[in-house]
Amino acid sequence: MASGDDRAGAARRPRIVLVPSAGMGHLAPFSRLAVALSTVHACDVSFVVFLPTVSSAESAHLDSLFAALPSVSRLDLRLPPLDAPEFSGADPFYAHYEASRRSTPLLLPPLLAGADALIADISLASVAIPMATELSLPCYVLFTSSATMFSLYAYYPAYLEAAAAAGDGDADVPGVGRIPRSSFPQALRDPGNLFTQQFVANGRSLLRADGILVNTFDALEPEAVAALRRGDVSSRPGFFPPVFTVGLLSPVSFPEARAPADYTAWLDAQPERSVVYVSFGSRKALAREQLGELARGLEASGCRFLWVVKGAVVDRDDGAGLSELLGEGFLERVQGRGLVTKAWVEQGEVLKHPAVGMFVSHCGWNSLTEALATGVPVLAWPRFADQRVNAGVVARGGAGVWVERWSWEGEEGVVKGDEVAEMVKSVMADETLRKAAACVRADAARAVAAGGTSYRSLTDLVRRCCPGS
Ligand code: UDP
Ligand code: UDP
Repeated sequence: MASGDDRAGAARRPRIVLVPSAGMGHLAPFSRLAVALSTVHACDVSFVVFLPTVSSAESAHLDSLFAALPSVSRLDLRLPPLDAPEFSGADPFYAHYEASRRSTPLLLPPLLAGADALIADISLASVAIPMATELSLPCYVLFTSSATMFSLYAYYPAYLEAAAAAGDGDADVPGVGRIPRSSFPQALRDPGNLFTQQFVANGRSLLRADGILVNTFDALEPEAVAALRRGDVSSRPGFFPPVFTVGLLSPVSFPEARAPADYTAWLDAQPERSVVYVSFGSRKALAREQLGELARGLEASGCRFLWVVKGAVVDRDDGAGLSELLGEGFLERVQGRGLVTKAWVEQGEVLKHPAVGMFVSHCGWNSLTEALATGVPVLAWPRFADQRVNAGVVARGGAGVWVERWSWEGEEGVVKGDEVAEMVKSVMADETLRKAAACVRADAARAVAAGGTSYRSLTDLVRRCCPGS
């Protein structure tokens, strides 16, 4: 905590500690925030790393981040082993959240000396906020998904109380509208699930945060942002912590740190806007049968494509070969017009490439922010967690198409290759969609430019963290 003398002195750099949690979907926005705070907003940033990480992608990203940004200090915090019986069978990323939550109040305070403020991941909110209060340290929370998802999240404790009286149903989020129960993260159906317990505890804790950061911009989700700022979703009517819309945070890319990427040379050789980029994110693998149908669909579409295939939840366990996953002969048949890889790609760079014409996406929020910022139209195929709510945001925003009947993980059967091929062809040919996506890109650029809504929001946050800065 900064001393009173420090605060009384001349303008100085605010000291902010960032506390991300597990998975690239949480690490990436924190890295982006670290860059924005340290380079654009002149803050001294410290970055907590809970070790060990779940995936190799996270450890490679962290190594590159600290090598590229020597001014950001790394604060390692070693977690107790995750192999206790209570974690067996749990999603490894949720188990990591839980281990981090348990360790935060014990191991984090010694790392916070000299800080002006803490910005913690949403998954740590209910442990980080009371810990910071005890240390008289302002505590902000970064929500790593859309503002619309955040409105559901903040409203969920009230929804549960209403649902207990009225039976389970859709959520009518005040000021935002109806979010169908079929779009809630699947884990919420099980009240005993680790994720559900964390979701509810974190939701209840939010009113005590000093503020909430969301990686969105006002013009993208105007209703949700306004409802949050009015306190419509709050259990204390009219009161809600300040909401800072700080997006879209720019991707941090480290192409030089990775193995030589054959996809870059391949993309360079393709005509403008001719390539369908396909990725379902870093968290989940598609079922084998669905992988096969997607392969058939891409082949039948006749389009060029770059497809990042994931065969297992955690990359370290992903040993299956591409032919085994996609069927004999597929790679040979599409050779030249399709590039399939199991390697990590620098997605932020891929989406900026002029050859890319559309994105078949699982609608992880980071992936969508990258598509929105580059104006690449999205074919939304949400599978899990917050992705259906996010798919609604991108479709309503005009930058994508969502076929709502397409399967949600473990339900509704397999989407057939023919249907995939038809949708891919239709989105590739949709000039109206392309123009609408370009308008969203322009709005996004205005929001982060000097004087834009997100620029001002981050400036305001920094001033509140350190009034003398
Ligand atoms: N989330 C949440 N509470 C938590 C952890 C996550 O509300 O304790 C949110 C998270 O920000 C996202 C959604 O729930 O909006 C799904 O989170 P998850 O981490 O499963 O998704 P991922 O980011 O890994 O795709
Ligand atoms: N990502 C990437 N290369 C890959 C796979 C994923 O750069 O091969 C990045 C992607 O650009 C995004 C993050 O990993 O920034 C994944 O976060 P998102 O919220 O989109 O989805 P999640 O993986 O959490 O489901």
